[in-house]
Amino acid sequence: MKYFLPDAQDLVDPSFDFGRETRSPDRIRQRDDRYAHEVFEKPPYNGILVSKGIVEGTGGSSGRYPQSQRLRLLREGVQEFFRVNEIPRWKPEFMGDCGAFSYVKESKPPYTVDEVIEFYEGCNFDFGISVDHVILDYKPGWDVKMFGKDGVPKPTKHRQELTLELARDFYKRTRSSKLHFTPVGVAQGWSPNSYAYAVRQLQRIGYDYIALGGVVPLKTDDVLRVMQKVDDVRLTSTKLHMLGVTRIAEVRRFSRFGVSSFDSTSPLRQAFKDDKDNYYTSDDAYTAIRIPQVQGNAKFQKRIRSGEVDQRVARGSEQRCLRYMEEFDRGKRKASSVLKALTEYGKLYDPKKDRTEAYRRTLDAAPWKHCPCEVCSALGHHVILFRGAERNRRRGFHNVWVFYRRLQRGLGRRRRKLVLVPEISVAAEQQQAFV
Ligand SMILES: [Zn+2]
Repeated sequence: MKYFLPDAQDLVDPSFDFGRETRSPDRIRQRDDRYAHEVFEKPPYNGILVSKGIVEGTGGSSGRYPQSQRLRLLREGVQEFFRVNEIPRWKPEFMGDCGAFSYVKESKPPYTVDEVIEFYEGCNFDFGISVDHVILDYKPGWDVKMFGKDGVPKPTKHRQELTLELARDFYKRTRSSKLHFTPVGVAQGWSPNSYAYAVRQLQRIGYDYIALGGVVPLKTDDVLRVMQKVDDVRLTSTKLHMLGVTRIAEVRRFSRFGVSSFDSTSPLRQAFKDDKDNYYTSDDAYTAIRIPQVQGNAKFQKRIRSGEVDQRVARGSEQRCLRYMEEFDRGKRKASSVLKALTEYGKLYDPKKDRTEAYRRTLDAAPWKHCPCEVCSALGHHVILFRGAERNRRRGFHNVWVFYRRLQRGLGRRRRKLVLVPEISVAAEQQQAFV
């Protein structure tokens, strides 16, 4: 099972000084900042998924790539852009897609088949996913005809037909013009039967690598029902890719249904988007310790401006928390005393939320002290601090590393209890996965 990490230009600055919170004045972001695969000795994924929507932006948003970077990606190709050739014994695969969640609200995809092919070929991808339109409804009941009338709403059916039509066109063009990447067809549906129908059609067109789209919001049981039906029509030569999946608890069953790859940003995003499961361990997850900066935190500044919070008191409380955490890490301070300082600071910046119990659990376990990954070894307690992009992203990198190890373990040892990845809310996942 191959794991693809979707790219959202998440890089870290190696010159960042965590004690002083300063950067090297000579830092050039594009040259010096590091991707997750450059931080670990063994990169924690098999490939990178790059979305056209993220590179170029859609519907008025500008995407994650500044113009200069976008042009460089097209000029150099993905291998050079992501500097993967500099990593010994690692041959990642690159998959391109359109980022269909970013235009889910529009009536049709904003790209033509030709534009997408030009993007894939120009960037030198190994795999290119056909242009698709996500169906967000999951309603198996629609398949039952009522009084002879079709239960599936027209716009939903249209999205599936459009996706298949685009896949047909996409396949034809990739075949006729001898392109370098392997085409991957997308199946969209609203029920197990409709997904199976889409897969059958895609196989008829000629695809032997098919991505299942729109499964992100589904419950595990529903995903398995879809997989089961798809498996009934799947040819033995057809490989499946799951677009945006978080549930590695079912990874073994997925692989039995012909799933050979998937992508997920959840391990990275949960580090700083989730309310409580921010730091993964091999069999659990912990809440990161929030010590937001007084300066630069919008919510905090509002409270200070309105006179609810005294700036000097806030600053003193923030510095105390940072110092106490550092002393705790060195074994010079008890958890109870750190907790008191954290709770006091919490009352200043987020009085409605009490995280004391979650923090107690984190401090009691001090999981960063036991993690052998490069991030935790280098950062110490800074990795557990929910504070600024440099720490938060590195914690995300650590999560990706743990997730990859869990994945390998889940597949490798058949009798071992499966490890559950904390599930993330549907809305948050959709928002994170592709936008
Ligand atoms: Zn770690």
